[in-house]
Amino acid sequence: MNRPYKMIHEKTIKREVSFCGVGLHSGKRINMRLLPAPEGTGIVFMRTDIMGLALIPVCSASVLSTFYSTTIGVNGVRVQTVEHLLAALYALSINNIFIELDGEEVPIADGSAAPFVDLLLGAGEVRQEKKRMILEVVEPLTIVDGEKKINLFPVTHGGFEIAYTIAYQHPLIARSSYSYLHSQDRFIQEIASARTFGFLKDIKQLLAKGYAKGGSLENAIVVGDDKILNQEQLRFENEFVRHKILDLIGDIALLGMPIIGKIVAYHAGHQLHTRLIETLRKHQTAFRLIPPTKRDSIRTREHALFFGGAGPCAVETYQPRQVRKKATVRKPF
Ligand SMILES: [Zn+2]
Repeated sequence: MNRPYKMIHEKTIKREVSFCGVGLHSGKRINMRLLPAPEGTGIVFMRTDIMGLALIPVCSASVLSTFYSTTIGVNGVRVQTVEHLLAALYALSINNIFIELDGEEVPIADGSAAPFVDLLLGAGEVRQEKKRMILEVVEPLTIVDGEKKINLFPVTHGGFEIAYTIAYQHPLIARSSYSYLHSQDRFIQEIASARTFGFLKDIKQLLAKGYAKGGSLENAIVVGDDKILNQEQLRFENEFVRHKILDLIGDIALLGMPIIGKIVAYHAGHQLHTRLIETLRKHQTAFRLIPPTKRDSIRTREHALFFGGAGPCAVETYQPRQVRKKATVRKPF
């Protein structure tokens, strides 16, 4: 297992970019600004609508809820629906970035990751000096929840592969599978533009629970009893399962480092995706970190995020004054 690996450098964006849109669940209009960050920062959300230092580092320990989207938070400050933006960041290998939001949700855009990919490509990229840590799966792992299941396997090709199957009791999405070998280009071509979806019969129930208030035919595929309600028809024949892969990549980004391995998922979702990360973190014989490091000698932020969670990682390299000053003196978007 000691073959040579192509080392990946840390990366941030070249210039700040902004995006404005509605939150899928909150229904509120939200301004988002993406800012370059120094190496060793990680992906850090900042809530500019909250007084004080409202920082949320992206790591598995920050996960608060996985009900219909992934919500992360620290000390009572939260950000909802992070997965599509995180998938775009993972795909473009941008691991150092500050994400300012003036609300508690990432805008849903068109329900896919394509607008975020465009935003990030428009921002340009800066390759940083430090090299990234990589997680390689070396032993199989299985997690099951009723009929839902995820298997994780080692691979010999040194990449990240996903085989996803969904199966609903519905004539339009009875069963669908898709296999995907991850790369930036393949993500952009095969996965990024697949939109989130929901069933018309579930929408009333979701609204009653306070979710999907911003949902519309502009930002989600709505599946009726026997047809798709959107004017824009499916972007891919199997758009639903492709979107599940998009969600999985966004949740895998919570690892804080690239993964080498294969995930085989059956009818899973955010809850099982994030449980996979937690299970992996606890089974240290199932993976190795490249370059090798020990749990008790935390040397990098990636390492701290992975093992230590949100606590110790927030203090290392972040320069809050400089960024906060910018955030508080600027005019509203
Ligand atoms: Zn999604």
